[in-house]
Amino acid sequence: MPHLRAPAAAPGIAGSRRLGDAYGRIATDLRVSLTDRCNLRCTYCMPAEGLDWMPHAEVLTDDELVRLVGIGVRELGIRTVRLTGGEPLLRRNLEFLVAAIADLQPRPLIALTTNGIGLAARAAGLARAGLGRINISLDTLDPDTFKQLTRRPRLADVLAGVRAAREAGLDPVKINSVLLRGVNDHEAAPLLRWAVTEGVQLRFIEQMPLDAQHSWQRSEMVTADEIRERLSVEFELVVDPVDALRRGSAPAELFRVVGTEVSVGIIAAVTKPFCGSCDRVRLTADGQIRNCLFAREESDLRLPLRSGASDEEIADRWVQAVAGKQPGHGIDDPTFLQPDRPMSAIGG
Ligand code: SAM
Repeated sequence: MPHLRAPAAAPGIAGSRRLGDAYGRIATDLRVSLTDRCNLRCTYCMPAEGLDWMPHAEVLTDDELVRLVGIGVRELGIRTVRLTGGEPLLRRNLEFLVAAIADLQPRPLIALTTNGIGLAARAAGLARAGLGRINISLDTLDPDTFKQLTRRPRLADVLAGVRAAREAGLDPVKINSVLLRGVNDHEAAPLLRWAVTEGVQLRFIEQMPLDAQHSWQRSEMVTADEIRERLSVEFELVVDPVDALRRGSAPAELFRVVGTEVSVGIIAAVTKPFCGSCDRVRLTADGQIRNCLFAREESDLRLPLRSGASDEEIADRWVQAVAGKQPGHGIDDPTFLQPDRPMSAIGG
């Protein structure tokens, strides 16, 4: 039986509580989905026609969102706030949200996960507002494959976004890539070659069972071991010695590309899960706390928020939501059931 550890007080934080679970993990990294809408239709994420988007009235307003994030930061030890979606750049007031979160005390590290479309015009403003880190999703460098995979001809916009992020001083710029068998799995080495030239940090993510169509098949997934093999055809990779010592809760295993200053990450979410060191908790655009990407239950913070609950009552509910976190995502369990919400509505 895992040892039950009482969540300790966070040193230097005004609030006296932390988001602990029964397995000794403490959530300090909040992933906030700003919208379930997206301007791409990646085949491994959602169908060509899109999804039934959340009605606007259900989506948290800017003020509601900042209040909840503030409770997490002030009362519950949240240290990193990653804004995601759907596509977070579709949230019109994103710069305002970043600035408001940057004003919280203690100031959290603010990160953004985006497909990069429209970023070219906004990267500098986001950096000025207080954005600290950025992950841009890019699965291919070939315009035709990009169009096939995302169902939109927008590769040039994404590449312009990557450039703008670097020029805005966002450092490091991380690139998230998902490889699909027979579609872009031959691009592992070309993507790394490009990343080395551009000075960006590439991370491959194993495809997870989170697509709206429920079409994921383990046998079709390109595994972390395969990705490493494909990279090794062109690059010599060694386990990054600094990362090996300090990996902590980071999901990517980092490999140093010999002869360069660059590391490449592989996130083996399915074949080598890292649930034991997970420090993440998620807030959906409609105000639900999810203690795991794969959770089948959520805790509603929007109803109490809109019914006049105090910060303390909301914090209590949040603490309870995380306390019930399962030890692992269970993808390998024969009884595993994919969550009802797809990745785009949870926030990746
Ligand atoms: N629209 C933003 C973007 O593209 O980065 C943020 C949301 S998107 C859901 C976040 C990340 O999740 C992207 O890097 C995307 O490739 C990844 N993703 C989506 N579906 C996935 C799946 N089934 N397995 C693994 N990664 C997935």
